[in-house]
Amino acid sequence: MKLIRNPRKAYRYLSLLKVEGKTIGFVPTMGYLHEGHLSLIKKARRENDIVVVSIFVNTLQFGPREDYESYPKDFKRDKALARDAGADLIFNPGIRAMYTGNHSTFVNVRKLPENLCGRFRPRHFRGVATVVTKLLNIVPADTAYFGQKDAQQAFIIMKMVKDLNMPVAIKMLPIVREKDGLAMSSRNIYLDTKQRREAAVLYRSLCLAEKIIKTGKRDSKNIIKKMKNLIQGESSAKVQYISIVDIDRLKDVKKIKGRVLIALAAYFGRIRLIDNIIVRRK
Ligand code: AMP
Repeated sequence: MKLIRNPRKAYRYLSLLKVEGKTIGFVPTMGYLHEGHLSLIKKARRENDIVVVSIFVNTLQFGPREDYESYPKDFKRDKALARDAGADLIFNPGIRAMYTGNHSTFVNVRKLPENLCGRFRPRHFRGVATVVTKLLNIVPADTAYFGQKDAQQAFIIMKMVKDLNMPVAIKMLPIVREKDGLAMSSRNIYLDTKQRREAAVLYRSLCLAEKIIKTGKRDSKNIIKKMKNLIQGESSAKVQYISIVDIDRLKDVKKIKGRVLIALAAYFGRIRLIDNIIVRRK
């Protein structure tokens, strides 16, 4: 497995492989890899000649009071995990290689970032869209793989790629969970024992919502209330939002019909966790 830190070198190396007719699968990450990331890498391995994994903690997508400084890192471990999952190249640029002091170009997708996490993280998706554009300019990927764990992010990137005619296919893969249902996340290591145990309530609340919808109930407000009660029953949990939105526009729906995304964010102590499911009501 190869490691490249310089963007221009990465582009040169990969564009030669493209000329040879090789297909490139790309998995962008912020590192501290877990089974969720590895599921994307393994899928890319099955579908492409070359698999590229980027590890870059993107300053631009963190708010001023968020956890950029303390974001977990273990590059040595990441390298071994990525290699074992089938990566051919790790692209690991330094912050100055990606953003010079006077970076002044941003990619702004409209509408889709307005709801859900975007309501509470105002510049976050601008940071995400900008870095993914830069990464896709450096890594000439045929397909880029994203997790449903960050469903709003995946939908925004799909829209951006379509709107800007970017020559890459975007695939969104299912959420990988711990045994008790907690969605895997690099931030889970910061939960203490009690918070970790209680955090499993998030997935239980999503399953509860699905169950209620399957019995024929359609009233979002009512379902959200039940989810919230369940989550707030755990003493360390504080709900930031629970929303039921349509898949196309990510706007709140009052009466559930067709396919909806049920998404939430909650704090356990200072750790903010997100989770979601997609439910179809016939
Ligand atoms: P991150 O390193 O958190 O930026 O995540 C990199 C990619 O891995 C994103 O596309 C995430 O949606 C995806 N991902 C993170 N956690 C999971 C998970 N538990 N299951 C599936 N994909 C995930």
